[in-house]
Amino acid sequence: MDKEMSKAEQLKEMLFSQKKNAYLVMDEKEIDEAYDFCEGYKDFLTKAKIEREFIVETIERAQKMGFKPYDKNKIYSAGEKFYVLNRGKAVILCVMGTRPLDDGIRLTAAHIDSPRLDLKQHPLYEDKEMAFFKTHYYGGIKKYQWSTVPMSLHGVVVRADGTSVSVNIGEDEGDPQFCVCDLLIHLADEQMKRPAAKIITGEELNILVGSRPFKDDKASELVKLNILSILNEKYGIIEDDFISAELEAVPACKAVDIGFDRSLIGGYGQDDKVCAYTQLEAIIETENPAYTCVAVFADKEEIGSMGNTGLESSFLKYFIYRLARAHGFSGIDVISATQALSADVNAAFDPTFPEPIDYRNGAKINHGVTVTKYTGARGKSGTSDASAEFVGKVRKLFDEANVQWQTGELGKVDAGGGGTVAMYLANLDIDVIDVGVPVLSMHAPFEVTSKIDTFMAYKAFKCFFAEK
Ligand code: MN
Ligand code: MN
Repeated sequence: MDKEMSKAEQLKEMLFSQKKNAYLVMDEKEIDEAYDFCEGYKDFLTKAKIEREFIVETIERAQKMGFKPYDKNKIYSAGEKFYVLNRGKAVILCVMGTRPLDDGIRLTAAHIDSPRLDLKQHPLYEDKEMAFFKTHYYGGIKKYQWSTVPMSLHGVVVRADGTSVSVNIGEDEGDPQFCVCDLLIHLADEQMKRPAAKIITGEELNILVGSRPFKDDKASELVKLNILSILNEKYGIIEDDFISAELEAVPACKAVDIGFDRSLIGGYGQDDKVCAYTQLEAIIETENPAYTCVAVFADKEEIGSMGNTGLESSFLKYFIYRLARAHGFSGIDVISATQALSADVNAAFDPTFPEPIDYRNGAKINHGVTVTKYTGARGKSGTSDASAEFVGKVRKLFDEANVQWQTGELGKVDAGGGGTVAMYLANLDIDVIDVGVPVLSMHAPFEVTSKIDTFMAYKAFKCFFAEK
């Protein structure tokens, strides 16, 4: 029998924060549900390594759930579902609500690009009878982490005649893979004196792609010739076709369980595909919502959301304007009434590297989906700082839906920092806050998340879309 609580204990229970590890709050049934949910996530993450592939998988999944291509002149009725493709690299999913559009939209925004090595425009060269690809890294990376990692190649090549071919090599059983080589430790005395940012430099991120010469005594560059001849046979391309190509080298690993207890997920590109996948599952299961629900899957976040597939461009705004116009509303009114969750990951506290995170305010593995009021750097520079009112609204919503959630910040005050798409949504006059999954080893070739936190992100987006 419980012994009676003292006055102080009672008062503490009433007044102190009761937030704790989500496993201590959830029942077994829900924990099982979370683990099952993450099986689908791991499959998706393994199949959709780059933005173009994420779009293909997303549209296939959405179509199965009744989403149709958007018709900008159509007047949609409540419950109808459609999608808007942006250049094969970003997509908007929409479910029409019963409320008038100028009550605002319930919007979530995740990004589907991740740090990687892009091929340069003239990538292929031969040096000392070995063939390599020159790369230009994309997004913020610790460059040394990207050498000696098995890699695959994904993307598209547009040929001189305008036809194109998709490339995906290094993922299937039996496929060849690629890698950046590093110097053996025995001969690395000078290299090891370099600062960490230069252990491997950008121009040293050269991918080994072959070594077998074309059998001929006369011509030079026979290894390069042999590679081009293989590529020509397989893809019908010639050297200059690389100029009109987007080829991305990414880690060739599959998404897997981590830990004896299988409580974690390891895989490439979880920033931000963990939020993209969870918002995808949330919106495709949304039926007859009150507010019109929109999930945007954006490209280019890792390089500042620039470009016409990134959220600093107008593609989302124009979509809302067009939707409003067809339904007899002002686009400005619809946008100004809209509320959004910027669905992006945050740094998880790592006990091996405790220094840069204030434990009290940092996001913890298994403590649920993270609500981040502001990101930015130094004195909150470069962030949308969500209002107390909007944080209060989101807090109440998640509590009522039994979402396990926590708060997070992007490191200690002067430790560094970063940003998300939240500020670009805020610039449109939208109320917005960051909500996402804490990640260990963020931006590394292999990132780690918690199954419980991932499932809670899905629940968070779902209850946001279900608001009455
Ligand atoms: Mn991100
Ligand atoms: Mn990132």
